[in-house]
Amino acid sequence: MVKYKELELIYSSFMCDKNCPYCTAKITKWPIRQDCLEKLEEKLALLKKENVRFKYFIISGNGEPSLNSYESLKIIKDAVNKVNIFDEKRLQSSGNIFYEDDKFNLLKDDFMIEITRCYFDSKKDMEVLGYKRDYIKTSNFNKANNIRLNYVMLQNKSFDEYLEEIKMFIDRYPNIKTVSLKTLNLNTFDGNINNPYSKWILNNGLTKKDSDKIIEYMSNNAKFKCKDEKFFDRYEWIYKNIPITFYVKKLDYGYSNIVYYGGELVDYHLQPIKLKKEEL
Ligand code: SF4
Repeated sequence: MVKYKELELIYSSFMCDKNCPYCTAKITKWPIRQDCLEKLEEKLALLKKENVRFKYFIISGNGEPSLNSYESLKIIKDAVNKVNIFDEKRLQSSGNIFYEDDKFNLLKDDFMIEITRCYFDSKKDMEVLGYKRDYIKTSNFNKANNIRLNYVMLQNKSFDEYLEEIKMFIDRYPNIKTVSLKTLNLNTFDGNINNPYSKWILNNGLTKKDSDKIIEYMSNNAKFKCKDEKFFDRYEWIYKNIPITFYVKKLDYGYSNIVYYGGELVDYHLQPIKLKKEEL
């Protein structure tokens, strides 16, 4: 068997109800393509035939995935349930999914829902990430029993403040089952800092050059659990049984990931993938 970390399905639409100043979609500006979701099941079956498995299947977007149609989400759900080569499934969301009952109900039992915040305080979070509705107060948010929090670390806070906020999230929202500490990617497509989003990150965010400081602080202040740089490129700490993970990004971006984009299996440079050969 050949094990990969993620198969990430990226919708081509740039529709989004947030306006994050570090928007990865706007930095990389992938060309718009037809999503061709009808080819997904066939591509998954091909991977299965090649004896490939993944830790995660992730529905993502160059925008907010849940702004795409119910029918398209159902095609994806049915395909990944049928060709089940995934240990876990996740949906990344701006928070919009919590306002769309039909889409929420379609996915909530099978998919962990990922939210991304840079503040515990919703008002501050809405100001920085440019959105208008406080999704964390919806009844659907409370009904979701499997939430992953992506916590974006900004330069205007100390490490003590990051950890304090993370503990507040975990204490206040028992449906948060895992927390991922996020540094921001300046430009995963061609590395150029030639756009306002990458410049904002340089001035306001933590990037992979801050990894060692983050690891040192967390290891001194939280219970350390595991380090698996070879496959996951990740550290993990535990607070009240909740894992707080950190992807170190020491390996090439997207190492051990495959992307489904426009009906094709590609890498993060949109080049066709060549499957790894090693047995795990
Ligand atoms: S939620 Fe994602 S797609 Fe939307 S603005 Fe933020 S980073 Fe960009």
